[in-house]
Amino acid sequence: MTLLDIQHISVQTMGKTILDGFSLKIEEGELHAIMGPNGAGKSTLAHVLAGHPDYEVTSGRIFFRGKDLLALEPSERSLAGLFLSFQYPVDIPGVSNEEFLEKVVQEKRKFLGKPPLSKEEFTTLLQEKMEKMQIASSFRKRGLNEGFSGGEKKKNELLQMALLCPELAILDETDSGLDVDAIRMSADYINECKSSCSLLLITHYARLLTLVQPTHVHIMLEGKVVRSGSLDLCAKIEESGYKLEAL
Ligand code: ADP
Ligand code: MG
Repeated sequence: MTLLDIQHISVQTMGKTILDGFSLKIEEGELHAIMGPNGAGKSTLAHVLAGHPDYEVTSGRIFFRGKDLLALEPSERSLAGLFLSFQYPVDIPGVSNEEFLEKVVQEKRKFLGKPPLSKEEFTTLLQEKMEKMQIASSFRKRGLNEGFSGGEKKKNELLQMALLCPELAILDETDSGLDVDAIRMSADYINECKSSCSLLLITHYARLLTLVQPTHVHIMLEGKVVRSGSLDLCAKIEESGYKLEAL
């Protein structure tokens, strides 16, 4: 089944065209990677999929599990099974990480018609996931992302993903800022998710991709996909950079 079908979208912000006829299709069970130079429009794509109001889709269509994605509110997209791990996760001082994560989990359960978890059940679930991701329990009570290092924020995004169990996860530079052990942990987690979730990874680095073995690799330049292939493409970029004629 086709999970995500992006059909030739163009996107503008502040009068500037950023995505320019971008197309991509992701089937269930696939793991796609997008690579591209700074400013190619990778994060813009992630934001458009999540429903960020700053970006106007001026043409093209996007279907998520057969539904018109652009007609859905960001919260509806999330409940329908779309997850975005931000390149730059936002701090929310005054809202504890645990409060935020509990709200997210209970809302999803409500949407699925499942009874809410008791406080104890939620705490047990949270602790189990945090231990697995090697996140110290002190992070439960801290303000969401407040004072977290870059790598800690990225791990916390994966914790959200683990609690939400999405159908399609978009991870925007999740590996940037992670130490080698954290990259390995993220790769192990992604590999574990592969059977139940499709993924779109945006990354600059071969290390994570070698560990998770994407089914498809795409190169994005100036707002569109210019090459698609396998992990070999990643090796070519390491060698020659983003020169189109070398890819
Ligand atoms: P990437 O993630 O591939 O590095 P982005 O999608 O973040 O690139 O940005 C693509 C281009 O669009 C950049 O030139 C960036 O400055 C511009 N851009 C993105 N978002 C905005 C915005 N909200 N306002 C103005 N320019 C933006
Ligand atoms: Mg980006």
